[in-house]
Amino acid sequence: MTATLSSNTRPNASFNIDNSHLKSLTRIDIPSRLLLGPGPSNADPAVLEAMDRQPIGHLDPAYLALMDEVQELMRYVWQTSNRMTLPVSGTGSAAMEATLANSIEPGDKILVCINGYFGHRLVDMAERYGAEVSSIKRDWGEVFTLDELRKAMETHRPQILALVHAETSTGARQPLEGVGDLCREFDCLLLLDTVTSLGGVPLFLDKWGVDLAYSCSQKGLSCPPGSSPFTMSDRALEKLSNRKSKVANWYLDMSLLANYWGKGRTYHHTAPVNMTYAIREALRLLADEGLESSWNRHQATAEYLWDNLEEMGLSCHVPKEYRLPTLTTVRIPEGVDGKAVTTKLVQEHNMELGGGLGELGGKVWRVGLMGYNSRKENVDKFIKAFKQVLSEV
Ligand code: PLP
Repeated sequence: MTATLSSNTRPNASFNIDNSHLKSLTRIDIPSRLLLGPGPSNADPAVLEAMDRQPIGHLDPAYLALMDEVQELMRYVWQTSNRMTLPVSGTGSAAMEATLANSIEPGDKILVCINGYFGHRLVDMAERYGAEVSSIKRDWGEVFTLDELRKAMETHRPQILALVHAETSTGARQPLEGVGDLCREFDCLLLLDTVTSLGGVPLFLDKWGVDLAYSCSQKGLSCPPGSSPFTMSDRALEKLSNRKSKVANWYLDMSLLANYWGKGRTYHHTAPVNMTYAIREALRLLADEGLESSWNRHQATAEYLWDNLEEMGLSCHVPKEYRLPTLTTVRIPEGVDGKAVTTKLVQEHNMELGGGLGELGGKVWRVGLMGYNSRKENVDKFIKAFKQVLSEV
């Protein structure tokens, strides 16, 4: 006779993994750090306070109103009137992947400009969606000229051109004047990584003709990671609605997400409710400060850092003209153990400084001054600790 399980049948209480060793864990205890690396940066206390509330339902009228506010605030900080502007549930890479998943059909041609680590990530992601990927390269720390972009467009004739506005691995800011017009001339969509620029560096998506962009919450927005701005223009939406194949990523498919973020308010996935509280508050704070004053604050703080570094006899990897105010790469002097410096700063001064990434590994430190952390008092704290550590290693 076949045994049937009744609903109240309990399995034998013989767990192969028990909790005896877990009971000794104490309540979570996080050290207080000043985060001056490539991100995350410290969150604004007002953002943390906003998160510290009970979740509400993600279809609750109060939540739906919050979603509208987030979209409106996001359009302001990005200077875009794109209807399809929303936070993707996940970190910047999720929003990055969303721009590619929604714009690429197998066989589509994409041209990726690589002058650092994140250009390579764009290539990797685009290939996974079946794109025919071509790329142009510049040394890490350099930027592309409009002429170079034109030549590459003539050679490759892509349907999408992808650029990183603020290359976090190098600290270089890619100029964008004329790039949107070039893309229109070639009937191509312009895709832009704004992860390390949003909030801290001038950005005018509509004026610059950007069709697809993504960012993150944990840098210029002074928010923890986990809710990432995404936007697409009507041109990009048209490509999406004319697709022959389904978007090859269910979670990030904007044609599905549009029904939740648009009028339908149809369930797609459970929104990370408390992260929405956080990003709403972070964006509100930025709107309250005003974009221009935030950009000026970032520039002034960065220049103060650069002056201090120069006084110490240190040099920056990127020429001033293209240097990001949000992220500075500092050359590690001959004979100095860069890793020992970052380790000592964390252990003895509770300060995070970034090491080099990819090709710049072991060659530079990365100093992030983003969002809430972009203040001269943080530069003073950093320089004091940095000088002390350099004298000890
Ligand atoms: N693009 C750039 C330029 C970045 O700096 C980062 C992360 O720092 C990403 C993409 C990926 O974002 P995340 O690490 O939040 O997934």
